[in-house]
Amino acid sequence: MELRIRNLSKTYANGVVALDKVTLTIPAGMFGLLGPNGAGKSTLMRTLATLQECDAGSVFFGELDVLDEKDEIRRLLGYLPQDFGVYPKVTAYELLDHFAMLKGLSNRARRREVVDGLLQQTNLFEVRHQRLGGFSGGMRQRFGIAQALLGDPQLIIVDEPTAGLDPQERVRFHNLLSDIGEDKTVLLSTHIVSDVSDLCANMAIINKGHVLLCGEPQKLIDDIDGKIWERFVTKAELPYFQREHDVISTRLLTGRTLIRVYGERDPGDGFFAANGDLEDVYFATIAGRHVAASNC
Ligand code: ADP
Repeated sequence: MELRIRNLSKTYANGVVALDKVTLTIPAGMFGLLGPNGAGKSTLMRTLATLQECDAGSVFFGELDVLDEKDEIRRLLGYLPQDFGVYPKVTAYELLDHFAMLKGLSNRARRREVVDGLLQQTNLFEVRHQRLGGFSGGMRQRFGIAQALLGDPQLIIVDEPTAGLDPQERVRFHNLLSDIGEDKTVLLSTHIVSDVSDLCANMAIINKGHVLLCGEPQKLIDDIDGKIWERFVTKAELPYFQREHDVISTRLLTGRTLIRVYGERDPGDGFFAANGDLEDVYFATIAGRHVAASNC
């Protein structure tokens, strides 16, 4: 089912405009919402998860009015918040069983079936009798997904789920999400570009409460290709290049500094044409250099 967000706005009491007329259409499948810290991602996620009020705008999931029909939407919703706390002294099985009861699964045998199934799906079955306090960050996040999947939700919202995971756990978590995303609408917020490039068929970039760009990652990469140039510089040369060129990223590669610039034409100055990637799209968009025609 499609999630349609129209002109959603939110200003906090301290005057911070967290969302400014956000308009997005999110089809079924995995959708990545990419933006730096403070962009407004969590505010949007919490609003969609019916945990927070907005000031203006509308949100529909299929025919359901998300902002108005909160009880109905909650029945269809699975949510993994940014700061998912667990009770450290109870086991994974006990807590998931408890959540399942709260979700209305009162039949014991049926509940056991569902809880076992979710623990298996999230690769936690072997450790189900261990206390959550001893779980690694990745195990905790997988447990968070297990609880979000209770009640077979159609809309799943996950807020910055891979922040702080080691590379192996991130791959594991990605595999889990991509299995789920096959037949549901999954909205994933992140500041990590590879989360989106690995997983999402559609994406948007958000900053300072504004949607800057949206579309299919590969199309957005195709749009920027031919406009990215790179060269190595020394530490001493870096300020010169930052002054003279549209530097969108600076990274260390084997101990040397590689800079990438955005430009319609060859900037000269020793730059070579580079293959554009999603990081370039992200950095150039956030820096305000790259403005693609997009239809959100
Ligand atoms: P993100 O999830 O992308 O990091 P947030 O939605 O958490 O962004 O925050 C967007 C902006 O709103 C930030 O400037 C943040 O400081 C501010 N903000 C978030 N929550 C509150 C709040 N409860 N009160 C005041 N300002 C807030």
